[in-house]
Amino acid sequence: MAVVKADLGACQGYANCIMGADDVFDIDDDGVVVVLRTEVEESERARVEAAARSCPVSALAVEDR
Ligand code: SF4
Repeated sequence: MAVVKADLGACQGYANCIMGADDVFDIDDDGVVVVLRTEVEESERARVEAAARSCPVSALAVEDR
C-alpha cells in the first residue's frame, strides 16, 4: 500500500494527473487537484506514480506508508 499526497498550494490545475489516473485524481471547481483515494495498492502504484510525475509543478507524491 502506498500513500498519495498533494501540495494543494502548488497545484496549478493543469490536469495532467487526471489523464494518467482519473480514479485517483480529480479537480474541484476552483481548479485545484482533489485526491479521491489517498491509498493505492502496490499493483497500481507504478501507474499512479507515473501520473504524479506528469505534474508540471511537482505537486504530487506517492510514498511508502
Ligand atoms: S497535474 Fe499537478 S498541477 Fe495539474 S492538476 Fe494535477 S496536481 Fe495540479
